[in-house]
Amino acid sequence: MKDLNIITEQTVAVPDAPYQARHYIDGVFQDNEDGRVSDRISPSHGVLVSQAALGGEAETAKAIAAARTAFDDGRWSRLSGKERAAVLTKVADLIEANEERLAVLETLESGKPISQSRGECGGAADLWRYAASLARSSHGQSHNALGDDMLGVVLKEPIGVVSIITPWNFPFWILSQKLPFALAAGCTCVVKPSEMTPSTTAMLGDLLTEAGVPAGVCNIVLGYGTPVGSMMSTHEDVDMVSFTGSTAVGKHITAAAGNTLKKVALELGGKNPQVIFPDADLESAADAVTFGVYFNVGQCCNSSSRIIVHEDIADDFVARVVELSRHVAFGNPLNPDTQVGAIVTQDHQAKIDGYVQAAKAEGAEVCLGGGVLNVDGVGAQFYQPTVIRGVTADMAIVREEVFGPVLVVQTFSTIEEAIALANDSDYGLSAGVWSDNIHTCLAFSRRAQAGTIWTNTWMDGFPEVTFGGVKQSGQGREIGQYGFDEFLEVKSLVMRVGASRAPWVKVP
Ligand code: NAD
Repeated sequence: MKDLNIITEQTVAVPDAPYQARHYIDGVFQDNEDGRVSDRISPSHGVLVSQAALGGEAETAKAIAAARTAFDDGRWSRLSGKERAAVLTKVADLIEANEERLAVLETLESGKPISQSRGECGGAADLWRYAASLARSSHGQSHNALGDDMLGVVLKEPIGVVSIITPWNFPFWILSQKLPFALAAGCTCVVKPSEMTPSTTAMLGDLLTEAGVPAGVCNIVLGYGTPVGSMMSTHEDVDMVSFTGSTAVGKHITAAAGNTLKKVALELGGKNPQVIFPDADLESAADAVTFGVYFNVGQCCNSSSRIIVHEDIADDFVARVVELSRHVAFGNPLNPDTQVGAIVTQDHQAKIDGYVQAAKAEGAEVCLGGGVLNVDGVGAQFYQPTVIRGVTADMAIVREEVFGPVLVVQTFSTIEEAIALANDSDYGLSAGVWSDNIHTCLAFSRRAQAGTIWTNTWMDGFPEVTFGGVKQSGQGREIGQYGFDEFLEVKSLVMRVGASRAPWVKVP
């Protein structure tokens, strides 16, 4: 396609040999009992990036047993917060020291640009440091106004063995939104990364050992959702499942976990709107919309895949987004100047294109893109930056998570209409509002049905500020104090002190 900013040059080398990813169980790296492996071919470079052990029930059972034993014998759960924090801080240091090694594999397995992988892997160290700080500040409540002879204490204790199941779109980041918080709380874990992006999670095993995480405290099993993920969601020795992925699999896990009534925390999909009022800083809004839709090729739970723009400014605003889209650097992920890389699989690329072609057939107007993108030297597993308007609220492209670099435009005339359109979704992960008027921003923010509302910005995040979805975008919260609390169980101690209790039995 003409007039796009396509980067073809490659400046970072592909490693000489594929990474051999192995299970990490009870502190020991190990192959599958039956020797099975899965191959991961890079979405952009077509090379064999990694070979990962392909776990089955035997490996999963071993990992759960190791986590259970490690939790019950207290080798981690009964350490002081200070001791746990020291280890987690060392992991953070080691992540930073290994940023480049992690980033190259992350890029090759996922197709995302190397600059983003560096930011994601290196930046994840901050999540580990923040979680370490929470390990030391965990506390419950005391009740000393129950009467002179009574004292109540509410303790927070680690919930137990946590299964952590992660997707392919931000493998190392999402792992780091969960694992250090669970470990800080004193839990032990079994982790399963996506079968498409196993390597950076497997590499973490080395760093955990080096930092001094005791054997059995974190176990990593590689493999498919079935049997590994399903066993992790149903096994009676698991106390909680923390899952990030699609809404469909999230629902399945909730139902499967119900049999043992384990706690389930879910971070799922989104169809996140940004609402633009005419009095906003429109240049900044157009830039944020462009960023919001193309970041990670739109393969992002927080993708701002739809905008709801005031009808008076819609034409100019869309024209500006189209113009900016032409400047975004799509292309070879192994070039630090590339901003948008490859699509994770051919099947996923076909799914994205299916949504676009269906919208076209239903009468939508394609303002930009709308097809596969061929990047010289790294093939055609890319998708053009795509902007679509003239849609109706019932079209699949408006309602469903496309998970690609595809923006749909809706328009409004009153704030009531904007709020109604924003909330007309099964999802409720995030939303954004752009206006110079604080009253407009707050009116929208308070009525928008989403776990995070960005005001005059998009996708800024901090370990301190909790994250999660409402409606079918999930349940429970991640990161921040609330995310930490998810991994804690509450226990009440009610104590009589001093005088004995009045007898219940009346002895004649
Ligand atoms: P997915 O649901 O297909 O897979 C996620 C994980 O679940 C993988 O590890 C997979 O192997 C495993 N899995 C599959 N079937 C399973 C089963 N029956 N039991 C247990 N585990 C099973 O999702 P994906 O395609 O890897 O990721 C994309 C999805 O993730 C999108 O919907 C996206 O919005 C969502 N996501 C959400 C957030 C968030 O924070 N809300 C963040 C990133 C991604």
